[in-house]
Amino acid sequence: MLQEYKKYKEQILNRAKKIVIKVGSAVLTGANGLDPRVINRLADEISLLHDQGRDILLVSSGAVAAGCKVMTSCKVKECLAYKQAVSAIGQSRLMHAYDEAFARYNKITAQILLTKDDLKSRERFLNARNTLLNLLSWKVIPIINENDTVVVQELKFGDNDALAALVLNLVEADLFINLTSADGVYNSNPMKDKNAKLLPYIKDISKLDLEEICQGKTTQGTGGMYSKLLAARRAAQIGVPTLIVSGKVRFALERVFSGEELGTFIFPEEKSISRRKFWLAYNLDSRGEVLVDKGAVEAIVNQGKSLLPAGIVDVRGKFGKGALVKVIDAESGESLGVGLTNYKSSELKQIMGRKSSEIENILGQCAYSEAIHRDNFLLGAAL
Ligand code: GLU
Repeated sequence: MLQEYKKYKEQILNRAKKIVIKVGSAVLTGANGLDPRVINRLADEISLLHDQGRDILLVSSGAVAAGCKVMTSCKVKECLAYKQAVSAIGQSRLMHAYDEAFARYNKITAQILLTKDDLKSRERFLNARNTLLNLLSWKVIPIINENDTVVVQELKFGDNDALAALVLNLVEADLFINLTSADGVYNSNPMKDKNAKLLPYIKDISKLDLEEICQGKTTQGTGGMYSKLLAARRAAQIGVPTLIVSGKVRFALERVFSGEELGTFIFPEEKSISRRKFWLAYNLDSRGEVLVDKGAVEAIVNQGKSLLPAGIVDVRGKFGKGALVKVIDAESGESLGVGLTNYKSSELKQIMGRKSSEIENILGQCAYSEAIHRDNFLLGAAL
């Protein structure tokens, strides 16, 4: 089996034409701020891949960390306003370092700063996509980060792992490499368990209990292995494999592409979801919850059907028609996925538990017989 996995991985790496590489602050910065050696090494390795005719997009953190090292005299470090301001200082330093490092290899880089709002709007999503594809056609290496200076909590992607997963969909990449400070994914937390083993392959990430593996470090937005695995799971859903590998190890990229076994390779799902479903599930914010009964769970999960009002037992939150909502199994409390609702919350409350043929009598008209159509529903959304 391992030989088979290895062969498959080699094929994917050899054929990859459009790669999103994400690098975290912990890799890029040392005690004195941005580590020029790491940036130079990255530029060297990425340029090599680029010379092989591959398109590369780099999602780079490090703006806040680099800015903090400049503003050492500032005392209040945790508040949002501080981070927004220091990111402005750090981002220009980060880009300057990348520009110089890549120029040594005759590569042109471009800075792209995005907010969640940009990718939520279909028009801006397409604008971002067109610009990125244009840059790639000019053989430029886009360097992407969240526009930290203008984001407030509600606009945040969560972290750059989540941002990188959205970029995969944005440009239709075929490989995701997440350069991190850990060696890869372990079967339990190596800081707590000395018998923890590195997993060289994850065949089916949807079956993995991420919370168990990450042992408590599950809060979104704090980074850590959980957010990397969540991003890898999203990538797998659109058919993109992920390699989680240490960016601290010297020449990791070069070694991996030469066939060395480093890090953890996560297989894509065999049946990928549509990019539209991916977009609605991960670019929009969910506005409420719809709890469903056993019959609805069976229809949605095992028969791939739409959700009818008859299967709804409770509606939580206030939302409008067309909002993204979570669908929850009322019995187990488990989330089944997310979808766009055909009715606003007040209407759903009136028609829940009722047959679709009764909708007209209750609401005065029956615009849709489904509460959520299966085309607008992503089962197993990785949230
Ligand atoms: N955008 C932040 C920065 O550049 C980092 C966010 C993250 O690493 O998830 O500092």
